[in-house]
Amino acid sequence: MKHANLSIFVPHVGCPHQCRFCNQRSISGAQVLPDRKAVKELCLTAEKQLDGRCGNAEIAFFGGSFTAIDPAYMLELLRAAGPFIHGGVFRGIRISTRPDAIDREILSVLKTHHVTAIELGAQSMSDQVLEMNSRGHTAAQVKEASLRILDSGFELGLQMMTGLYGSDEEKDWDTALQLAALKPDTVRIYPTLVVEGTALAELWRAGSYCPQTLEEAVALGARLLELFEHDCAIPVIRMGLHAQESLRENVLAGPYHPAYRELCEGRLLYNRILKSMKKQGNYLVRISPRSVSKITGHGAGTIEKLRQLGYNVSIRQEPGLVGLDIMVEEV
Ligand code: SF4
Repeated sequence: MKHANLSIFVPHVGCPHQCRFCNQRSISGAQVLPDRKAVKELCLTAEKQLDGRCGNAEIAFFGGSFTAIDPAYMLELLRAAGPFIHGGVFRGIRISTRPDAIDREILSVLKTHHVTAIELGAQSMSDQVLEMNSRGHTAAQVKEASLRILDSGFELGLQMMTGLYGSDEEKDWDTALQLAALKPDTVRIYPTLVVEGTALAELWRAGSYCPQTLEEAVALGARLLELFEHDCAIPVIRMGLHAQESLRENVLAGPYHPAYRELCEGRLLYNRILKSMKKQGNYLVRISPRSVSKITGHGAGTIEKLRQLGYNVSIRQEPGLVGLDIMVEEV
């Protein structure tokens, strides 16, 4: 629980546009809007569970477009959470919102009410893709809002989606480059899923939209992870939607996998191992004990795939290595 956030879903309120791919009620499972009393009760329950180990935890209002909801309701939620920040139970409040729902006035209200991190649903940096998905904002607004958030001293999180209607691998990669250039503190990556009750589901039924395959989403996810975390030192704090029952019941198509991040990390390791070997032969790959399962677990085919390419690879656990670092030597 030490780093756990208390997530409070505020589903589908404050959205001036109905994004083509979105059905927040299916994704979060939440049907009832939380009120002041509910926020207080959730905070009290979390406080008991944290039992004094709460220094790093945050209260996170996720799901809708927090700064676009009715201002009185937004203040009601923030005020209900406020005493738990004052009291030192949580270190701050995170919110997620739309790029076009950020201005100086709103930022000042958020600052006064202990919001420390703002996550923007950027989704794509292609205006054409944004329009095709009825996002109702432009890439320029993502940039503008991001700079304002950073200028005002908040932690900035950016969320992107891959495989959106009208997008392709090149556009997704370009989105990632543009988001990385904004220097966010954190990133989330969500492959697009076809969810029941969305306009995207109708396009999919009509044969006008074809989602990424899991293989495509994993291959791209591995490259994005390498770009953000390794090349740009930006933590990717989430890859793929949480495996909630309401989501599993409503996903019609698309690259859903409960361990999507593990798959991407396995692919990233495969890419790194392959790059380190100059010619076919026998190799010893040293890897951190915590990462071994990423090539022997969900990605169990990794060693076999390398063998088929003529690389005979054995794996050794190396306690001195951390994360996804590897050492490869010819033997
Ligand atoms: S993606 Fe965000 S902005 Fe779009 S409809 Fe869903 S909650 Fe609203």
